[in-house]
Amino acid sequence: MKDKILVKLQEFAYFIWLILLVFIAVFVTYFYDTNKKNQIYFLQKSFDNVYLKKSLTSLTAEFKPRYVSIDYKVQSGDTYENIIDTIDIPKEEKKLFLDNVKKNKEVKSLKQNQKIFFKLDRKDQTKIIEFKIEIDKKREAIFLRNKSLTSFNLNIIEKNLTKVVLYKEGTINNSLYSTAISLGIKPNTIVEFARLYGFQVDFQRDIWKGDSFQIIYEQFKNEDGSLVENGDILFANLNVQGSDLNLYKFEYDKKKVDYFDENGKSMRKTLMKTPINGARLSSSFGKRKHPILGFTRMHSGTDFAAPTGTPIMASGDGIVTRAQWCGGGGNCVKIKHNSVYQTVYAHMSKFGRGIKKGVRVKQGQIIGYVGSTGLSTGPHLHYEVIENGKKINSQKLKLPSGKTLKGNQRKNFEVSKIKIDVLKSELIAGLN
Ligand SMILES: [Zn+2]
Repeated sequence: MKDKILVKLQEFAYFIWLILLVFIAVFVTYFYDTNKKNQIYFLQKSFDNVYLKKSLTSLTAEFKPRYVSIDYKVQSGDTYENIIDTIDIPKEEKKLFLDNVKKNKEVKSLKQNQKIFFKLDRKDQTKIIEFKIEIDKKREAIFLRNKSLTSFNLNIIEKNLTKVVLYKEGTINNSLYSTAISLGIKPNTIVEFARLYGFQVDFQRDIWKGDSFQIIYEQFKNEDGSLVENGDILFANLNVQGSDLNLYKFEYDKKKVDYFDENGKSMRKTLMKTPINGARLSSSFGKRKHPILGFTRMHSGTDFAAPTGTPIMASGDGIVTRAQWCGGGGNCVKIKHNSVYQTVYAHMSKFGRGIKKGVRVKQGQIIGYVGSTGLSTGPHLHYEVIENGKKINSQKLKLPSGKTLKGNQRKNFEVSKIKIDVLKSELIAGLN
């Protein structure tokens, strides 16, 4: 019997081995698979591990400097909020900063061209450890993080600058710019001078060879005598074909400064004839052969040729009603000044900071930059003035002038004017 079973088993041996082999194979594969899954799970778990993450960030942090400095010049339309939003710091940090700067009257509101500085500490959570802002040419506010890091300590530092008042006069041979440069006047002061007359004088067309100018302006110098900053123009005169256009700087109200002629009349008008500096009038208002379309048609604006990127100013206070692509006009801006006047600026390379539909702009504020977008043969500004819905020639605009000083303001102006006239004769005497 035993033998019989053995024989049977031997007969089946081949079959038993086969089953055994299949079992082994299945088992090995299964074991290998679970092992692999475990390994992946373990790896994932390690990546989720906070401590490992921390040591990874601290490793990468070593490649970045701990302290970072940021210098910035305030642009028109800037607020603390939009500046701080460009810096990558935690929300609470932004709030702490805003609370601190807004507590102080003198730094609360930003002014165009104001210089600001941040120092950040990027250890752990990024913190502002120092913030500096120029209050005026001679004073600076410094916010330093206190030891407990909970707030800032404010210090106001007096800068050791000396103010120098300069007098320059010149006869225009080629352009105001080249004459002024040859006299050593800094470009910023020349631009400011041109801006003061921008309401009245078209520097391309109204200025003739032999016209002259006078200017009294401030400069701020460092202890070593190097020029730090251009100050204000105190007085300007432009003699155009024999007639003088005098302008006196005057603070007519608290912190409100403007320029007035000798009769106390402001030069500021509702709109500017030329909302751009250093441009050449390249095509005037009227019928002309269109440079691209080829046929004659009405040119309903004035073209000023200027290099790409030249700033374009809002020709008057108003509300932006359009800041977008407008076909042949390329990137264009439209401003509504009042119920009568609107202005259009076309072919811009880009819009000014913060310029969009619905935004309020001030006269002289940069709304965009010269370009050649849309139907255009080269970089220029196409400027349109719309009066009661009708396009008119901006260069023939007769606009009401600004305010005339009266009463006490007028009295104070007369005193200030005499002071400037005395200063002028002293400076002229000093020249000889
Ligand atoms: Zn045009």
